[in-house]
Amino acid sequence: MDIFKFSDELRYGELHLKSNPDIGLHAIVAIHNLKFGPAIGGTRFIEYDSTDDALFDAMRLARGMTYKAAISGLPHGGGKAVVIRPKGLTEEQREQIFSEFGAFVGSLNGNYITCEDSGTRVSDMNVVKSQTDHVLGYDPDSGSSGDPSPLTALGVRRGIEAAAKFRWDRDDLQDLKVAIQGVGHVGYYLAKELHNLGASLIVTDINDAAIQRCVTEFGAESVAPDAIYGVECDIFAPCALGAVINDKTLPQLKCDIVAGASNNQLLETRHGAILHERNILYAPDYAINAGGLINVAQEFAGYDADIVQEKVGAIFDTMLNIFERSASENTQTDIVADRIVDEMLYN
Ligand code: NAD
Repeated sequence: MDIFKFSDELRYGELHLKSNPDIGLHAIVAIHNLKFGPAIGGTRFIEYDSTDDALFDAMRLARGMTYKAAISGLPHGGGKAVVIRPKGLTEEQREQIFSEFGAFVGSLNGNYITCEDSGTRVSDMNVVKSQTDHVLGYDPDSGSSGDPSPLTALGVRRGIEAAAKFRWDRDDLQDLKVAIQGVGHVGYYLAKELHNLGASLIVTDINDAAIQRCVTEFGAESVAPDAIYGVECDIFAPCALGAVINDKTLPQLKCDIVAGASNNQLLETRHGAILHERNILYAPDYAINAGGLINVAQEFAGYDADIVQEKVGAIFDTMLNIFERSASENTQTDIVADRIVDEMLYN
């Protein structure tokens, strides 16, 4: 990979690397943008086939964090860390790696604030915390923000309410049919929120127990995983996987709105264009699923659950603004969201 070519394409920013062959540490901190404040984003700890893959992942994800933080009005830029997980990792080595990684984060003078992400756990963040204060979500028992999923679900619900307002001028979700793909952490809490507002639910999952919980608690109907795309419904809420809006699924959709928690729902930008052409209102994923980030970022400013509720609730206004601009500019919503952030960052 030509790193400077790629970093120019993504409008970077900074890249920091740290290695220590004695303990198998290979860490990358990508700081995409600092215009609105210190960069925030989790640390990914997974195996990679190559250093290029790890760099690509860190850089792409950090840019995504810039857009998510900016569209949510947070006083933060976007960053991401990748620590390449060594094969045959031992617990002792894990602790050494996160200790030295913590010192590495500390050496960046607060320009990057880390938290959990794929492959990391709270105990890793506790080790990071022993080396630097620039870590969030490190200990749920001592006043940190805890599980982000309920707040992510609340934000998705507010985004769905904005979509219903825009599409049908409705102030309620009573009797709307919502098909939820994946009722794990976020999907379950979303089902609960929507059920409490009178929506009727169709759910799917590859985990039968997760489905059963929604059937029992919320009277949800269930369908097989592959059948969820073709369900007749008002709203399709992807809460399991990325890339679910693609050439195979688009012809099956029988909904008016796509709004869910999953990251990177569109396989390609052109799939957002097809939704737009078909008059299916798409809630851009990084804007609607920012509740978890808003929650953890609040730790930095001094955690206050009421402020978090208010800020996550404001996802309603963010989404409505995107929908209205999309209509007035006749442009797909995901491009409008990017445009809003680009104007904030680069004008
Ligand atoms: P999760 O793993 O707890 O839940 C995902 C659920 O989807 C699981 O129950 C899983 O069994 C199910 N699933 C997997 N493959 C499936 C398939 N083919 N069909 C149907 N169901 C399937 O994850 P989560 O934390 O609830 O996150 C869900 C999505 O939201 C992910 O894409 C995640 O990146 C995104 N997200 C989550 C948060 C958060 O706060 N947890 C924040 C932002 C974005």
